[in-house]
Amino acid sequence: MDALREGAAIEKDADADSSIGQEKESAMVTRPSKEEAMAAVRTLIRWAGDDPEREGLLDTPDRVTRAYEEFFAGYLEEPEDVLGRTFEEVEGYSDMVMLRDIDLESHCEHHMVPILGKAHVAYVPTNKVVGISKLARVVEIFAKRLQTQETMTAQIGEVIQRVLDPAGVAVLVEAKHQCMTTRGIHKTKVATITSHFTGVFQTEERMERRFLEMVREK
Ligand SMILES: [Zn+2]
Repeated sequence: MDALREGAAIEKDADADSSIGQEKESAMVTRPSKEEAMAAVRTLIRWAGDDPEREGLLDTPDRVTRAYEEFFAGYLEEPEDVLGRTFEEVEGYSDMVMLRDIDLESHCEHHMVPILGKAHVAYVPTNKVVGISKLARVVEIFAKRLQTQETMTAQIGEVIQRVLDPAGVAVLVEAKHQCMTTRGIHKTKVATITSHFTGVFQTEERMERRFLEMVREK
């Protein structure tokens, strides 16, 4: 009961803060202590039907909270900062730059279980280019948050469009959701495909087709 009441209080605080447009700060303010997080893991172990005092589970709350620091490291960084750091001159290059098969590990915001797949990102530079690895970092930062695949796909495309101001951005994500493969409807082979196009990828069918062909070329 105590844990429940605490959870409700935290949610209310977060709402109040985000209403004045400081979502990120409120997330920091309401972050529980490591002790509180480990207590929550013990509660979930009991909810699953096991005994958190059982020897094999004694270190589990510590391990789970540390794993969460990795799974959700994306809350500590802003993709704008990564993209904004390193501009290089285009020097005459004006065709598509594409990064294919970026490994994607995320967690669905509905069930907090893994979303695993690949992201493909392309853009057509106008005056600014970034190191290719920065595009992968942008994918990683958004992925390491609680997500829906649709939102994540759009966020990746929009931040690249906003910061680099290219002629267009194309993002395609193909992923499997463990909330579909290991529970609920148990569809183990179903992949979800989402895409987001801006600029020339949206207005020129030829560009969209080239992008999709390059994604499929293996
Ligand atoms: Zn889910």
